[in-house]
Amino acid sequence: MTVVQSLIDLQEVDGRIRELELELKDLPRRKALETARLSGVSADLQAAKANQEYANRRVKGYEEDAKTLREKIQQLKTTQAGLQSNKEYQQYSVQIDLVSHDLETTENNQIAAMDDLPSAEARVTEAQAKYDAEKGGVDAFCAEIDERIAAVKTELEEAQKERAEKAKLVGDPRFMLYYERLRTKRWPVVVPLTHEGVCDGCHLVQPPSVAQLVDHNSGLVACTMCGRILYRD
Ligand SMILES: [Zn+2]
Repeated sequence: MTVVQSLIDLQEVDGRIRELELELKDLPRRKALETARLSGVSADLQAAKANQEYANRRVKGYEEDAKTLREKIQQLKTTQAGLQSNKEYQQYSVQIDLVSHDLETTENNQIAAMDDLPSAEARVTEAQAKYDAEKGGVDAFCAEIDERIAAVKTELEEAQKERAEKAKLVGDPRFMLYYERLRTKRWPVVVPLTHEGVCDGCHLVQPPSVAQLVDHNSGLVACTMCGRILYRD
């Protein structure tokens, strides 16, 4: 096996490693996006619940007010019944009328507040159903992502082992060093020299001398522009 071929083999493993590493970086991001979406749905549900509690409290408040007013009327009537003077009796009648008017207003308010209850409840039911449905989907999605993360990690470990083997097969350490230096800057490192004599990495037409060197398989031949290692396909 030529040294260029051994580098192509190494590069093939490195390509897989790059993809796996990219995926490993992307997977938690996708999971976070889904979780964030769910917390939005959860916030809707919390808001619907808070709204329902508020509506219930309003009804209850009017109910208590009405109860207090009824008791007050009862009290006034009891006192009124024991009165001797006609003038005082009249004064109490006026007061009872006033409180009765308040009671009527309060009862009307209570009825109006009760009208809001069904829609508040419907909103909670709807938000709860949406949350439940979304949560099921998100949980399943996150479980899948976790599985994939574990699988990618395993694949990556295996690829690293394979890489170590392939690296050993690159006989010349200078080639190896050259490849490693270029790997982070120019990917892929080893590229074909096309039939038109063009570097497949940067698309620069190579001088005929370079093409000749590649064809004669004389060691490491680099593109005059980008420095990638050239080989004939
Ligand atoms: Zn080039």
